[in-house]
Amino acid sequence: MLTKILDWVIDVDVAATLAAYAAIESGRAAGCDCADCRNFVAVRSRVYPEAFVKFAHSAGIDLEREVELACSGLVGIGATEYTGLFHLVGRLVEGPADVEQMDSSSWRVLYRSLAPGFSVAAGFGQGALDKAFAGLPLVDVNWEVTTDWVIPDPPTPGIARLRGSQ
Ligand SMILES: [Zn+2]
Repeated sequence: MLTKILDWVIDVDVAATLAAYAAIESGRAAGCDCADCRNFVAVRSRVYPEAFVKFAHSAGIDLEREVELACSGLVGIGATEYTGLFHLVGRLVEGPADVEQMDSSSWRVLYRSLAPGFSVAAGFGQGALDKAFAGLPLVDVNWEVTTDWVIPDPPTPGIARLRGSQ
């Protein structure tokens, strides 16, 4: 099925995507006890804008099972920034570049705004981040959001930290 988010057109295998999410034991945040992840679980129901929720549901993504999550710490009083991604089983048909090479070893994601405080970038990514997706053709839907810090504990110290199976 062809689906679209901003200018990215993706040929998604919805049944295979649904099956892979059903095989994930838990989303990254639910599988971790750190403050960053517990805060994300607390705000997750309002992190994704309506346009992204509609896209995700039509494509077979389980929004409670993010395959990657990172927190940048506080970005203002009571505000924090997260990045994460969802895999789709399928292939990218067309769309703008999702990454830009900065130097020989670093890249940055070229997010585009979908809604206030929420941006996305879709591309081929680095392969399966959860064994439920191993061996499948994947498109990564990366997102970045600014949201609230609502739990009493402070964020985990340090710069952006990858949450994943690595
Ligand atoms: Zn965590």
